[in-house]
Amino acid sequence: MKKLSILGSTGSIGDSTLKVIDNLKGQFKIKYLSANNNFKKLADQALRYNPEYVIIDKEFYQDLKDILGTSKIKILTIEEGLDQATSDKNVDIVVNAIVGSFGLRPTINAAKNGKIIALANKESLVMAGENVKSLMKEFGSKIIPIDSEHSAILQSLNGEEYSAINKIILTASGGPFRDRKDSLEDVSIEDALAHPNWSMGDKISIDSATMMNKGFELIEAVHLFDLGPERIEIIIHPESIIHSMVEFIDGSVIAQLGLPDMMVPIQYALTYPERKKLDLPKLDLHKLGTLNFFDPNTKMFPAINVAIEAIKEGGTVPVVLNAVNEIMVYKFLKGKIKFTDIVKNVEEEISKHKKIKDPTIDQIFEVNDEIWKRLH
Ligand code: MG
Repeated sequence: MKKLSILGSTGSIGDSTLKVIDNLKGQFKIKYLSANNNFKKLADQALRYNPEYVIIDKEFYQDLKDILGTSKIKILTIEEGLDQATSDKNVDIVVNAIVGSFGLRPTINAAKNGKIIALANKESLVMAGENVKSLMKEFGSKIIPIDSEHSAILQSLNGEEYSAINKIILTASGGPFRDRKDSLEDVSIEDALAHPNWSMGDKISIDSATMMNKGFELIEAVHLFDLGPERIEIIIHPESIIHSMVEFIDGSVIAQLGLPDMMVPIQYALTYPERKKLDLPKLDLHKLGTLNFFDPNTKMFPAINVAIEAIKEGGTVPVVLNAVNEIMVYKFLKGKIKFTDIVKNVEEEISKHKKIKDPTIDQIFEVNDEIWKRLH
């Protein structure tokens, strides 16, 4: 039985991961569950799945202890817990579903400890793709992507050589503002959070609305599949049925299709390279009839090109991209800035940044921390 650490278990990916664990009954044992502050939900999950450890911010340590009462489950604070959950020699797979730049350290630690990392945290590769990859090589760890697009690419590449790839076609739903013709300046928080096809956490929902999410996914694909950004194409596909495609050197295109449900890529990541049964509603092409594709509107959604430029520049530029975006998304969610200011501020900070070319992990954290201190 494989042992798991699930980091960020109370979020939307955490929920789907636990449903996958239910589906694969008897094949996985959860050793660690971690949350940031949602101690009530973490306690519910712990009482149901009986991990050895739960991890919570120290502010909620006592609250969690009060609920777990006399159970044998041990409680750790985030400071000690995430290190332990990613280095424990009995843990086989670390599911990293932490939101934001805070997810980078656990990815690095898991990579250093040779773990299989089922990665949902986008920021890890956006901020430190090269560094994480060299750690993976050094310590024999492996990243299996959970994101639906990268899972689709991985599935399309099954049995193929990376050298046979011509390009990757990354599909995007276009988010809630796909069909807007007028300015996005005054869109409300509620409208920005209302994603048409996927139900997700707040941070990624806003990133989908600005389409920065697709920019991040392009950067992740560059690192995961060793391709230059010019060989990754973004196409709007409103139905979210084709989750991404690979065009090969002979002109063949292989795609992965299915109804949008995160349980599918999560289960594939946990059982990779095997495929296991999962009883969800099936795709009915007769009922669906048509699939649509459009070019992204990069005028309305400048984030795409900002992200492409950032990965072309490389070094610490993607770190700035990620940090400023993350801070601005939270400012928007608190009503402090306009929707269009998110990407505007990202561009401005990137233009002022003095790039470090091949940054160490410490330099990446320094750049990130400096931005958080200054802008948050
Ligand atoms: Mg995605």
